[in-house]
Amino acid sequence: MQTGEAAGPDTGSKARDGASPGSPASTGGSIPRSRPNLSIAERFWSHVDMSAGDGDVCWPWTGALNKYGYGHFRIDNNGGGVVRSHRLALTLVVGPAPDDAPYGLHGCDNPACCHVHPKHVYWGTQSQNVKDEYRRYRREPKRIELHGEQQDLT
Ligand SMILES: [Zn+2]
Repeated sequence: MQTGEAAGPDTGSKARDGASPGSPASTGGSIPRSRPNLSIAERFWSHVDMSAGDGDVCWPWTGALNKYGYGHFRIDNNGGGVVRSHRLALTLVVGPAPDDAPYGLHGCDNPACCHVHPKHVYWGTQSQNVKDEYRRYRREPKRIELHGEQQDLT
C-alpha cells in the first residue's frame, strides 16, 4: 500500500554547517564567535541589569568595572578581546561604530550603563565626546556671585 503523503526526512535544506570561512581579513573591529550555543550576546546581556525596564533608565553593567567605572567584557577566554561593555552593547544593538562617530558615549553620566538609547549610550563624534566630558566636569551650574566684592560690614 502506498500512502500519498511522504513523511520522510526533509533533506532538501541548505548547507547546515555555517563554518565556511568567509573573510579571513581581520580589520580589528570584528568580534569573533567562540561558542555556537552560547553566543556573545547571550553572555553579554546576562551581565546587564535591565530590571529597570525600557524607557529612559540606566541598565548598569554588573560585571567587572575598570577604574573609570566602565564595564569590561571578555570576548573569549583565551586572554584576548576585552572590550568596554557599553561599546559592545552598541555593536550588538546598532552595529559597529560608524567611521564618523566612533565614540561610545554616555548621555546619562553613568559609565557602567549599557542601555543603547539616545539619552544613555550611543555612537557619537569627537566633538560630542568633548561636550560630554565638558558637561560632566561642570555638572551643575553653581553660580556663586560673591567675587570678593562683598564688603565686610563691621
Ligand atoms: Zn544610562
